Amino acid sequence: MSDSPLRVSVRQGEKIFSQGDMADCAYIVEHGRIGVLVERDGAEIQIAERGRGDLFGEMAIIDGMPRSATILALEDCVLLKLTRSQLAHRIEAADPIIRLLLDVILTRFRDTLAGIDKPQAEAIGTGNVSDRRDERLGDDHRIEAVAQMRLERELEFGIRNHEFELNYQPIVELRNGRVAGFEALIRWRHKERGLVPPIIFIPAAEASGLIIPLSRWCLRQACRDLQTFRRALPADRALFVSVNLSGIDLQRPDFVADFARILAETGADPSDIKLEVTEGVLMKEADRVIETLNACRSMGSTIALDDFGTGFSSMSYLSKFPIDTLKIDKSFVQALHTDRASHNIVNAIIALGWGLDIPTVAEGIENAADADALLAIGCAYGQGYYFSQPITPAEAILYLQAATPPAQHLHKAR
Ligand code: C2E
Ligand code: CA
Ligand code: CA
Repeated sequence: MSDSPLRVSVRQGEKIFSQGDMADCAYIVEHGRIGVLVERDGAEIQIAERGRGDLFGEMAIIDGMPRSATILALEDCVLLKLTRSQLAHRIEAADPIIRLLLDVILTRFRDTLAGIDKPQAEAIGTGNVSDRRDERLGDDHRIEAVAQMRLERELEFGIRNHEFELNYQPIVELRNGRVAGFEALIRWRHKERGLVPPIIFIPAAEASGLIIPLSRWCLRQACRDLQTFRRALPADRALFVSVNLSGIDLQRPDFVADFARILAETGADPSDIKLEVTEGVLMKEADRVIETLNACRSMGSTIALDDFGTGFSSMSYLSKFPIDTLKIDKSFVQALHTDRASHNIVNAIIALGWGLDIPTVAEGIENAADADALLAIGCAYGQGYYFSQPITPAEAILYLQAATPPAQHLHKAR
C-alpha cells in the first residue's frame, strides 16, 4: 500500500484497514473495487462491495468509534483520503437535530452490524454501542437537539393555536416627533413559558421552515392592523407599517403571490407596507431575493435595510439592491456619545443615505440627547424606547392620536 497525504494506492488483496482499528480518515474510491468484510464465527465474510465514487470509512470518523468492518481491495485501487477534520468541522457546524439523527442512525447501524456476530463485535468494541453513546455525541449536544425539537413542536402548535401577537413600535420624524409609521414586532404568548422574545424562536422557526407560515401570519396581521390604524386617522394622513422578513421568505417563488393575496384580502395599500430585510438576507441567493424584492416594489411596497452596518456591508450592493430606507443598527446609536468610532459610523451612514437619496432611520434611541444629535447630523427618522416601547395595536392608536409625541404615559417599560 503506497500512502501519500492525499491518495493511497492499494494492490489487489491488500487490506485498507481492519475491524477494530482506530480511525483517522475516510476514503473515496477513485479506481478499483473494495469489499466490506465483518468477522463471523472466526471467519471474515463479505457483506458489501463498493466501486468508483463510493465513500467508505466515514462512520468511525463521524462518531469516533473503532472501525466496524475490514476493507479489502478486490482489485488494484486508487483511493482519495478525506481527513477527520474535513468531516468533523462540517458535523460540528450542522444543525443539532441533524447531528442527533446522524448519531441515532450510526448507533442503530453499529448495533445491526454487531448483531451479525455479537460476541466478536463486543470483543472489538462495536457491541453495546448504545450504552456508550455519550462518548460520541456529548450530553450538551443531545440536550440542545432535544430542546430545539421541543421548541419547534411548540412553535407549530402555537401557530395553529393563535399564540402569536404583533406589537408596534413607532418610527418618528425626528424634526417634529410625528409618527411616520410603525414596525411590527412579533411576540409569542406561550402558555407555560410566558412571553417568549423573537430572538429565541425566530432562529428555530427559520431552521424548521415554520418561518413561512409565521411570516405569512405577520404580513396578514400587520395589513389588518394597518387598516384599523387608518380608520382612526384622517383619510389623507400618511402612515406605513413595516414587517420583518427572513431570507427564507424571500427565496420562496410563491412569496409575491402570497403577499399580493394578503393585500387583496385585507384591502391594505401596498405602498403603506415596508418590508424589512437584513444585509445577510441580501447575500444569500441574491438573484432570487432581488427578483422578489423588485416584484414587491413594483406593486408599490418599499424595502428597508435593517441593522445596517452589522453585516457584510459592501457599498457595491447598495446600488445593486432595491433599497428605499437604511436602518442604522442600535449598537451604533447607543454608543453615539461614548464611542468615537460609532459616532463616525453613524455620521458616515447618514451621509451615505443623503448621497444615495435614501432616508435613514436610527434604531434604539433611548434619550433626548441621542435624538437631538441624530437630527443635527441629518438623520430623518428615529425609533426607540425614548419615543415608545413596542406597544399593542390599541395603544398604537392612542399614541397616533396623542397631540405631542413622545407620549409620556407610553414610555413606561412594559
Ligand atoms: P429588529 O428588527 O432590529 O427589531 C428591533 C428590536 O430592538 C426589537 O426587539 C425592539 O423591541 C428593540 N428595541 C427598540 N427600541 C429599542 C431601544 O431603544 N433600546 C433597546 N435596547 N432595544 C430597542 P425585539 O422585538 O425583541 O425583536 C428582536 C428581533 O427579532 C428583531 O430585531 C427582528 O430581527 C426579530 N423579529 C421581531 N419580529 C419579527 C418578525 O415578525 N419576523 C421576523 N422574521 N423577525 C422578527
Ligand atoms: Ca427590524
Ligand atoms: Ca433592526
